[in-house]
Amino acid sequence: MKRQDYISWDEYFMGIALLSAQRSKDSNTQVGACIVSQDNKILSVGYNGMPTGCDDDRMPWSREGSKLETKYPFVCHAELNAILNREGSLKGGRLYVTLFPCNECAKAIIQSGIREIVYMSDKYADSEETQASKLMLGMVGVKCRQYESAGRDITLEL
Ligand SMILES: [Zn+2]
Repeated sequence: MKRQDYISWDEYFMGIALLSAQRSKDSNTQVGACIVSQDNKILSVGYNGMPTGCDDDRMPWSREGSKLETKYPFVCHAELNAILNREGSLKGGRLYVTLFPCNECAKAIIQSGIREIVYMSDKYADSEETQASKLMLGMVGVKCRQYESAGRDITLEL
């Protein structure tokens, strides 16, 4: 008889998004993303970070202060990195992400042809960015569903 306690596709891909988030240099927010095809092949991964070549040690990571002293104008979100890291098509793909996408990422998601989003946290649901994101995603019919945790605990010794 085959093994029974293997992980589901959702657990597998959200697990990869969570692992990717561990690469983030942001001490406040670590977000990971994993994009897969309709037949469950991994197309791309990403996490939030400074643009390639921008020195992590010289860029600001603060959340407060004048805009140019904060991370906000500079950081590439996990979803955007995952979209841009892929050279081939993402059409019809499914995005796993540990935090509901902001409006800027939603635009890139829509333009890339991704048709489904599986998200973990929606902790900024009340923000205008998230509301704008949901408005656009809803209008174009990108399916959004919250990840349902199986409550499984997996430890990786690295
Ligand atoms: Zn974003």
